[in-house]
Amino acid sequence: MDTAFISHDDCTLHNSGEHHPECKQRLHSITEHLIMEKLWDRLKHFEAPEATRAQLALAHSEAHIDNIESLIPEEGIFYIEEDTAISRHSLRAAKLSAGSVVLATELVLDNVNHPDLKRAFCAVRPPGHHAERERAMGFCLFNNVAVGAYQALNHPDIERIAIVDFDVHHGNGTENIFQHDSRVLFCSAFQHPFYPFTDFNFPGNNIVHVPMASGTNSEQFRSGIERVWLPELKKFEPQMIFISAGFDGSLYDPMANWQLLDEDYFWITEQICNIADQYSEGRVVSALEGGYQLEHLGLCVVEHIKALNLVND
Ligand SMILES: [Zn+2]
Repeated sequence: MDTAFISHDDCTLHNSGEHHPECKQRLHSITEHLIMEKLWDRLKHFEAPEATRAQLALAHSEAHIDNIESLIPEEGIFYIEEDTAISRHSLRAAKLSAGSVVLATELVLDNVNHPDLKRAFCAVRPPGHHAERERAMGFCLFNNVAVGAYQALNHPDIERIAIVDFDVHHGNGTENIFQHDSRVLFCSAFQHPFYPFTDFNFPGNNIVHVPMASGTNSEQFRSGIERVWLPELKKFEPQMIFISAGFDGSLYDPMANWQLLDEDYFWITEQICNIADQYSEGRVVSALEGGYQLEHLGLCVVEHIKALNLVND
């Protein structure tokens, strides 16, 4: 079985300003660590295309897309909100990020040209899971995973998909877009209380939360996933699984307060792949979200991709 690695050099052109944690070096670290671990040559490499306006408009309002387009500055940095800054090439990078998940979805669903390709990882930025249908926030312009998920749901063979989000921050954007959509099960584990301070009073029946305190360690994280996510995923029997893969729950990450170790990202990916092998013909599409300690971001992505690619070992 093959694992696709989808990226584009122009994702490094998105610039949120000096000292912004969501920086191009994140992608460089991932590449360097995959090469060092000799994983790079074992992946099938694809260049991300831009998502079309029609693809973006499945997850976002036309007004939101117009707004992002109109806010792109000719020069310098423009702050859409406190955390979310854009510059001249940000629209290009954002369209490539969403387009990477569309391509990943097409590849894993293409049984004619790519019958052996069942896993894909999208190494792209800006990330997506905080972007709501009508709003950019938390470094995110378009919700990359949501755009890809709609692409899957438009496929004649796909009626149910799961999105699992292990970024340390709650994926409020994904929840906003798919809340009450019974075709989608959204499982999220996140530090709580913490950014983005989502109102959890009325989650839809298709939403599975695992809020975990500051200081959450490997054992607590794994037990929360085993107790809550895995039974819900098995019950739902998804035909395809998307991962919002954020690595900012790492012990070493400066942006949050969990204490996960690199190998926890192997473990959780393996759990998700086991479900996919059982119910989803192995189909897993993963896209990069957070992860800001450059060295450990690379190391954690290596663990994640090792587990995605496990069947080849
Ligand atoms: Zn995050």
